[in-house]
This record gives sequence, structure tokens and C-alpha cells, in this order.
Amino acid sequence: MIEFTEEQKLIKQSVSEFAQRKIAPIALEMEKNKEIPQDVIKGMAELGLLACTADPAYGGSGLNAVTAGVIAEELAKGDCTGSTCVFYLVQAAWGFLLNKYGTEEAKKEIFPKATAGDWFLGIATTESGGGTDVVGGKTNIKKDGDFFIVNGEKMYISGVREAATNGGGHITIAHQTPELGSRGMTVFYLPLTAEGITPTYIEDLGREGISCGGFSIDNVKIPKHYILGEENKGFYIIHEGYEYARALIAVICAAAGLKSLENGMNYAKERKVFGQPLAKFQEINFRLAEHYTKLEMLKRLGYEALRAIDLEQEGKGNRFETSKIVAMAKMFASDWACEAINDALQWQGAFGYSRECPDQAAWRAVRSFSLAEGTREVMKMIVARELLGKELISYK
Ligand SMILES: Cc1cc2nc3c(=O)[nH]c(=O)nc-3n(C[C@H](O)[C@H](O)[C@H](O)COP(=O)(O)OP(=O)(O)OC[C@H]3O[C@@H](n4cnc5c(N)ncnc54)[C@H](O)[C@@H]3O)c2cc1C
Repeated sequence: MIEFTEEQKLIKQSVSEFAQRKIAPIALEMEKNKEIPQDVIKGMAELGLLACTADPAYGGSGLNAVTAGVIAEELAKGDCTGSTCVFYLVQAAWGFLLNKYGTEEAKKEIFPKATAGDWFLGIATTESGGGTDVVGGKTNIKKDGDFFIVNGEKMYISGVREAATNGGGHITIAHQTPELGSRGMTVFYLPLTAEGITPTYIEDLGREGISCGGFSIDNVKIPKHYILGEENKGFYIIHEGYEYARALIAVICAAAGLKSLENGMNYAKERKVFGQPLAKFQEINFRLAEHYTKLEMLKRLGYEALRAIDLEQEGKGNRFETSKIVAMAKMFASDWACEAINDALQWQGAFGYSRECPDQAAWRAVRSFSLAEGTREVMKMIVARELLGKELISYK
């Protein structure tokens, strides 16, 4: 297991205290109200958690990926609904991308608002016609003097209401040179308050404290300083953001699963059946041992994936190795966490099936991660590609 630095240990402790004191007691209520209260968002901002990967020069905390993982882990333990985890992880991962590839002008405009919790910074690549297959999307971007004009739509996007109502926007991808396929796509920041954006909303199964929705993009004009990196290189750039998010998700799934196992274990130690604690039965304690082992392995792999990202930023890593270890970490993250939480619910009997049980919310939240930021199947494709070579990949 990675040895945390003194600074990381301090951050871990303060985020843990914040999550247990400010988030855990209101987590289920937050889902009912379908929003994260402002004082929680402001508290996260005061601790420097929002878009924490941005440079201090723009209001960020300049944290590396492992430290971002430490925060994600503590939020996942405190928020059974996963809502603040999503609010946090999306901004940490895509803030990293904006910090690395964004222009000075864009960073000076966006980060001070995002790090203060006033704006939301999201990611919008999925379209109704293209999710896994990003190139299958139809959204297009055209140069118009010093501006760009964008047309199309995005769907199943986290944080649409937050950005469209309070301010902020999403990092987006579109075809600039359609005949070049993946080699003709450009990544840019799209403010959701811009004229020509019309949001729609979806009722999700879980993590309901943060919205999910889509938006149509009708002749939206953006300045050229919103482009990230080189034009037509977006397909390659965007994968660094996905990978950051995926590694954080692995840690979040492990932490959420371990927290539910702890709840289930405490119940099984207290609850007496046939004259003895439920935990004494091998059916329970063998499953506990198996889930615990898998989730601890997952957590360690998640941190290794985050470390690979850090090494790459320090010029010591390898792009393909990073992609592989990140995909390995995310591949079973949701499945293993869901299986563990499902058993923890079972051990808690009828209470486990009630809305009062925090673990049912955790199950609904971690279930989303077999889809969001890249599906389980895509993770398998990436690992297989790195093992077999590009000529044998299944999606060509
Ligand atoms: C709660 C939630 C929040 C989300 N938030 C965001 C967000 O903020 N921003 C954003 O851009 N997107 C977001 N998404 C969308 C998510 O990234 C997509 O759902 C995902 O990429 C899959 O795309 P799709 O839904 O179009 O499924 P499809 O691409 O249509 O795939 C359908 C199924 O087929 C599988 N599949 C596809 N190709 C293959 C293959 N070659 N071999 C085997 N199986 C294959 C997929 O894994 C999937 O299981 C979110 C999704 C959810 C559920």
C-alpha cells in the first residue's frame, strides 16, 4: 500500500472530520432534496477540495492524483449517496485537464469560480447517438474568425442543473474535421449559461444530490481561448481526463463498499439469531472475508493507478502503462462494491431494504460507476489492447 506523506495524512484527517460531521448526517436528506446544500459546497471549497488539482495561481490547491484520491476516499466513507463524491471527482479530474491544457485566459476565468464553489465544472462527451463510441457523436465545432460555433447535443451528463443554474460549464468534445474521425475532434469548455443551450433532465437511480441531464447546443458561440490544447487533437487529450476520473472512481467504489461492509458487520455482530450473533455463521463471515479482501485489493490498485498518473506528470511514466493500470482498477470497481454492499444489505434483513438504510443509497450510487466515465466493457478493451496490441482490438 502506498505510504502517505504527512501532508496527505493531515488532509485525510480534516476531510474525514468534515465528511463525518457535515455530510454523513444529512446524506439521505440531500438525496431527497435532490441537491447538495450550499453550506456543504462552501465547506468543501474552504477546505480547498473543489477543482483541487488546479494550480494555486488560479485559486486551486495544486494537489496531485494520490492526494486527490485520499479526499475521494474520505468523501465516499461519509456520503452514502455518492453525490458529493461525484461533485468532487468530476471537478478534480476535469480540473486537472483544464489546468494542463487550458489557456491562461480560460483558467483565470473558470478556476476562481469553481474552486470557490460558485460554478460547476463538468464533463460532457456522451450523446444519445454516441457514448462508448465517442467518435460516433454528431456535435460539431466550426471556426468563425476569433470565435467557434458549436451545434449538437449531449446526454446523460452529471451536473447540468448545477452549471446551467448557478454558472459554470462542461468540458466537451466535438468534430472539427469530421472526415478525419478521431483525428479531427477538438476539446473545449462550453459554458452552460451560454445563449443557445437548452437543458433537459433525467431521473437517475442514485447519487440524486447531483443532477443528471442533457442539453441541446444550437449555434453556440464560444471564444477561441476556450479550446483545450491543439485543435483536432481532442480525442487524445480527453483520455487523460477520463483516466484521472476512473482512478478516483476505483478508490471511491472501494471506500463505499468497505463502509457498507463495516455497517453490515456491526449489525451481524449485534443481531442474535438462533441464540447467537449472526456474524458467527460461516455463510456470513466467509463472505465478509472475501468482500473485504477484494475491496482492499481494489483500493490498493486504485492508488497505484493514481500514482501512475502522478509519475507520468513528473515525466517518469508511460502513457500506455497508465491507461492499462487505470482500466484494471476501474474494470471491477463497481461490480465488487455492488456485490459487497448487496450482501451487507442482506445481512441487515428488512432494514437493509428500507430507505432508512444508508447502504441502499450506496448500492445505487456505486452501480452508476460500471457506466459513468467509461463502462466495464471499455476497461476490458483497454487492457486487452495493451496486452494483445492495437491490430487485435475488438472495436476497430
Ligand atoms: C449516472 C451517470 C452519469 C453520467 N455522467 C456523465 C457525464 O457527466 N458526462 C458524460 O459525458 N457522460 C456521462 N455518463 C454517460 C456514460 O459515460 C455513458 O453511459 C457510457 O460512456 C456508455 O455510453 P452509452 O450509455 O451510450 O452506452 P453504449 O455506448 O450504447 O453502450 C451500451 C453497452 O454496450 C457496451 N459496449 C459498447 N461497445 C462494446 C463492445 N465493443 N464490446 C462489448 N460491449 C460493448 C457498453 O459497455 C454498454 O454496456 C453518465 C452515465 C451515468 C449512468
